[in-house]
Amino acid sequence: MRFREPLLGGSAAMPGASLQRACRLLVAVCALHLGVTLVYYLAGRDLSRLPFLVGVPTPLQGSSNGATTIRQTSGVLRPRGTAPPSPFEASSEPGPGRGSSPDANSRLSSASNLTSSPVFPITALPLPACPEESPLLVGPLLIEFNVPVDLTLVAKQNSEVKVGGRYAPKDCISSHKVAIIIPFRKRQEHLKYWLYYLHPILQRQQLDYGIYVINQAGESMFNRAKLLNIGFQEALKDYNYSCFVFSDVDLIPMDDRNAYRCFSQPRHISVAMDKFGFSLPYVQYFGGVSALSKEQFLTINGFPNNYWGWGGEDDDIFNRLVFRGMSISRPNAVVGKCRMIRHSRDKKNEPNPQRFDRIAHTKETMLSDGLNSLTYEVLGIERYPLYTQITVDVGTPS
Ligand code: BGC
Repeated sequence: MRFREPLLGGSAAMPGASLQRACRLLVAVCALHLGVTLVYYLAGRDLSRLPFLVGVPTPLQGSSNGATTIRQTSGVLRPRGTAPPSPFEASSEPGPGRGSSPDANSRLSSASNLTSSPVFPITALPLPACPEESPLLVGPLLIEFNVPVDLTLVAKQNSEVKVGGRYAPKDCISSHKVAIIIPFRKRQEHLKYWLYYLHPILQRQQLDYGIYVINQAGESMFNRAKLLNIGFQEALKDYNYSCFVFSDVDLIPMDDRNAYRCFSQPRHISVAMDKFGFSLPYVQYFGGVSALSKEQFLTINGFPNNYWGWGGEDDDIFNRLVFRGMSISRPNAVVGKCRMIRHSRDKKNEPNPQRFDRIAHTKETMLSDGLNSLTYEVLGIERYPLYTQITVDVGTPS
């Protein structure tokens, strides 16, 4: 009996060999299929995460402990799967502040919560302008001078005031760049009260301000108006101030609605002093606290330099303004109330007997006596936490 030849190809001598090869090939194909399927499954079908397969660069990096971290464009590492921090936490840049607005911040942080979104560079939006009238004002204030002031404590209470007594609002741009000029000599206790009361008021008024105490050195006759001229000139070396408030060291406003800033006309601020029964001593009175824009000040050639001792210089300034066609702007007598710290007259600041004669000649003297004839020597500039003190030699009466 003869066996029939197998129908499969191959060696006629080994009828099972072809079948074995076919089986091996089938197993190899299945294994390859399984392998590729497994790889795709594990990769979640995201080819961009398989750079070794498709050559796409990736931000994914394995850490030594096996946790995956994602490198942000900022360079900060975070565990995979955790939400990215807000741009202000992740960055050493200041958070909400100058150059950005709270609104812009919330928009930026919600965008950065989308892990797979592209990360845009953080571009700070400009701050809005401060409102015409500050929403922070409280109105009438209780002003007393019976408790001694500790300036270290005052500095802590006004932590946003920068060295030298500089401040600008954080959330808006103030259009009032105000240098406050205080003529000074040996009145440290008064200055402490002034700083204690005025810093919070000026901040609530949302001013961009700096405090300058112009300290007359030596023992010669006091010259208030010359010190004010020096303050104007020296403050402008610090910053582009557009407004100058000239304040005696012993006058405190009793209402924070009394704006320490400039207006379209020169401003008289201390219009209702307790010393004068909360009214003006006479209608032309321009003493105590007043404010002039840079332009107004330059128009009158600044203040007179030759009023030595007490009195008359403020009347001369009033005359200058009138002779240059300006009028005086004032708050009402309620908002304009202020208190004066009681004190005895300083030595070397006795009433000036020449003042009446000088006031009678303002029209002529203002042309040659003022900013254009100002001479002095700066002996020192000290930047304290709450104010800048500039000590000057103003010379002696000629
Ligand atoms: C003086 C001023 C002073 C005013 C109020 C006037 O006689 O000339 O300088 O401010 O009195 O005291």
